[in-house]
Amino acid sequence: MNDFSKHKFGTKAIHAGAEADPSTGAIMTPIFQTSTYVQEAPGVNKGYGYARGKNPTREALQKNIAALENGKHCVCFSSGMGATDAVMRMLRPGDEVITGDDLYGGSYRMFTKIYQNYGIKFHFINLTDANTIKKYINPNTKLIWVETPTNPTMQIIDIEACSIIAKENNLILAVDNTFASPYLQNPLALGADIVMHSVTKYLGGHSDVVMGALITNSDALHEQIYFILNSCGANPGPMDCFLVMRGIKTLHLRMERHCFNGRKIAEYLKTHPKIEKIYWPGFTDHPNHLIAKKQMRDFGGMISIVLKNATEADTFKIASSFKVFSLAESLGGVESLINHPATMTHASIPKSERDKAGVVDNLLRLSVGVEDVEDLIEDLKQALS
Ligand SMILES: *Cc1c(COP(=O)(O)O)cnc(C)c1O
Repeated sequence: MNDFSKHKFGTKAIHAGAEADPSTGAIMTPIFQTSTYVQEAPGVNKGYGYARGKNPTREALQKNIAALENGKHCVCFSSGMGATDAVMRMLRPGDEVITGDDLYGGSYRMFTKIYQNYGIKFHFINLTDANTIKKYINPNTKLIWVETPTNPTMQIIDIEACSIIAKENNLILAVDNTFASPYLQNPLALGADIVMHSVTKYLGGHSDVVMGALITNSDALHEQIYFILNSCGANPGPMDCFLVMRGIKTLHLRMERHCFNGRKIAEYLKTHPKIEKIYWPGFTDHPNHLIAKKQMRDFGGMISIVLKNATEADTFKIASSFKVFSLAESLGGVESLINHPATMTHASIPKSERDKAGVVDNLLRLSVGVEDVEDLIEDLKQALS
């Protein structure tokens, strides 16, 4: 097996984990659509016993994603939430978690509606000044869960600063790296212990798969994560693993275009008279721009806008009048999407909490795709008029 750890990102995206099939030479990793493996004698097998635990297509994908994050281990899950759930299952009743106040709605829902009931306490705080974390640390604190850029207000959290605090206090730092993708940001290199991806988004990239992944350099954490996967069963299917491997082969090309289009659109919207506020970390006047510049390779294609003097009805009207952008949840696919977080991705967060975090009713989130940017700008122009 070739080790691509010394190669650059695009070469890894295409080659890491992707061995030609030894029995046929097939260049694409086969889809091992099987639930079990024949044994020569009880306990004598080729390393595969039952497919909840191990599947060769999944293993090829895991090697690939691990390489993209410069990590030693990757475990894939049936969804991003399945991956997040596996991290939470490492905790015990009484443990405490420090996390952000602008989280993916599904993560907030899992923390408050599932794990809080199991006696785990969550502190939802503004993490833009990492030192705030220190005020919430006590002997029960076990985990810091960071999402950056945040969703949808595009705050940037300083991963390295969080990791220093985590290490000083013997805490696990996990980073949801979904918005940035491994192309733009590699949290393990900044001191994180675990990276989580909703593979559904940029890694898959074609809006045809739901999947999650956890990446770590720690053998001990990997062992726990794999034990949870095998015990609890949120494993992805081999067909989906194949689709994601195929999607990742163009991740670097797609990300370049997402970033290029994102910049053009952010610049166009910044001076638009119908827009009151725009959130995009590439602007030099974005409050966390310097941290973004330090820890990200570029600024991505996720942009949020607050419409000027717009009621919820006005906002709905604009959100429904796009012709190239599609009104849909999710992000990171080749096609441009528009989303109304207050009623879509963040509906599970109470309105008072949403307003506090700036997720107001006249906010729209754009996932800028890889179409021709002139057509996207034309579409924004007509929808906003
Ligand atoms: C989509 C998303 C998730 C959840 O992932 P699924 O694959 O939908 O389960 C978690 N975090 C972020 C930032 C996301 O965008």
